[in-house]
Amino acid sequence: MIYRAAGTLLLILGITTGIFAQKTQFTHQDSLRGTITPERAWWDLTYYHLSVKVTPDDSTFSGTNLIQYRVIEPNQKIQIDLQPPMEISKITQNGEEQKFERDGNAWFISLSKKQQKGEMLELMVEFNGKPKVSRRPPWDGGVSWKKDEKGRPFIVTTNQGDGASLWWPCKDHPYDEPDSMLLSVTFPKDLMDVSNGKLIKLDNNNDGTKTAHWFVNNPINSYGVNINIGNYVHFGDTYKGEKGTLDCNFWVMDYNLEKAKKHFKQAYQMLEAFEYWFGPYPFYNDGYKLVEVPYPGMEHQSSVTYGNGFKNGYGGRDESHTGYGMKFDFIIIHESGHEWFANNVTNWDEADMWIHESFTAYSESLFVEYFWGKEAGAEYCRGTRLNISNDRPIIGVYGVNYPGSGDMYSKGANMLHTLRQIVNDDKKWRKILRGLNETFYHQTVKAEQIEKYISGETELDLESFFNQYLRDTRIPTLEYAIVDNEIRYRWTNCVNDFNMPVKVYINGEMKWIQPTGRWSRLKQSGNYKSFEIDKNFYVAAFPITVIN
Ligand SMILES: [Zn+2]
Repeated sequence: MIYRAAGTLLLILGITTGIFAQKTQFTHQDSLRGTITPERAWWDLTYYHLSVKVTPDDSTFSGTNLIQYRVIEPNQKIQIDLQPPMEISKITQNGEEQKFERDGNAWFISLSKKQQKGEMLELMVEFNGKPKVSRRPPWDGGVSWKKDEKGRPFIVTTNQGDGASLWWPCKDHPYDEPDSMLLSVTFPKDLMDVSNGKLIKLDNNNDGTKTAHWFVNNPINSYGVNINIGNYVHFGDTYKGEKGTLDCNFWVMDYNLEKAKKHFKQAYQMLEAFEYWFGPYPFYNDGYKLVEVPYPGMEHQSSVTYGNGFKNGYGGRDESHTGYGMKFDFIIIHESGHEWFANNVTNWDEADMWIHESFTAYSESLFVEYFWGKEAGAEYCRGTRLNISNDRPIIGVYGVNYPGSGDMYSKGANMLHTLRQIVNDDKKWRKILRGLNETFYHQTVKAEQIEKYISGETELDLESFFNQYLRDTRIPTLEYAIVDNEIRYRWTNCVNDFNMPVKVYINGEMKWIQPTGRWSRLKQSGNYKSFEIDKNFYVAAFPITVIN
């Protein structure tokens, strides 16, 4: 996902006037959605076959979802999510109709068959309705019933945050993903549907419709599942990457084909840079796709959606305010970066969405670094500091589907860039980035797992570092005073025990110091004339004249 859109002004005003203060009150529905309820905990999702008929004439979605699961602990009540105005009409198990009741967005089914530990079972859920219409995709979830430039239907789904259960019945919590998924989409025969994974079959139904069957051969997060229906044309190629040959497929409106053929070459540069930094593309058997949509873009797994006008920058702007942001297409790079952080390594709870956005925002700098050099990448990252608001912590509230501040993007990226300075070993740093993707391959993870992994690999105690940047809004400030041949310094405006080492330049000479919350002194024979903190650290400096 991308944080700011055209219409940014409202968001910026919102932040400065405190409209986006941390929410502290949550509803019963927030808990049903955001918690691993007892009705979710007992079963492990293994497979979905989602079959949806999309009818533009009356704006309806109807179909079935076959949900396959393994019983972890016996229980007779199961929770499935589907939000109004969508309705579940029938639920069966082994052909037998099941009783169910609705509690807002959650549906509780009383299963008649005894559920036994270790069993693999299936539930068939029939649903229909007019799904909520998105007013501002991708920030506002729902279905967009748009027209392309030639006035033909262009129908897409977006649902990050609001949830996949806006349009299809599923286990709508990020912790559990199916191991694979089949998506069968029926649509008017003159159009085409492009979804996740690989197209395995296209049926002509002899009733004015076609059905496209897309198979996803990997675990997939529910918010990544998407439908894109329009007048698509296809082109593609292969990429020789770290794990062999990767199919790259591109689907765009027929009138954009020539532009796309040139512009989408950036996808190969992206693969080259990100495989270098993060390791192999995580879904070789599903291929990589870019799919044109009538909104800016989104990280839908193996179906990255694109609507940035075949131009560099983001909506014509440079996110970093340095010039480097205009050297590449922000949407291709950022949204594809999510294939590693979001789709491969996925947050276990929405409160940890920084695992998706901080690493992916940082991936933009790494892309710049790969092609334009280390200092260019650093400059890009530092440039994004202008986007930081320090309004509330990067980590949100657990158990209620509530992500943290939009600072998870630029501040998160600068946190990682700062951490890289402390690691002070680019080989090791790259090994950590690749190691995260290998260790947590196709997994859903919590913040603590990421923190523990990095602390372990760096052999540094990073507890106060992560607490400072992820769980606090203050910018740690280095207070210092120069008195002739002595410098005194300490950290303030920080969490307890914050003791991050920092690189400084004293009389122009580089030196590492290890400040704590207490005053430290540095003496030398001559006088100190200048004292500067290395600009790659996201910290503040405050010179003082009187020490108390
Ligand atoms: Zn994003």
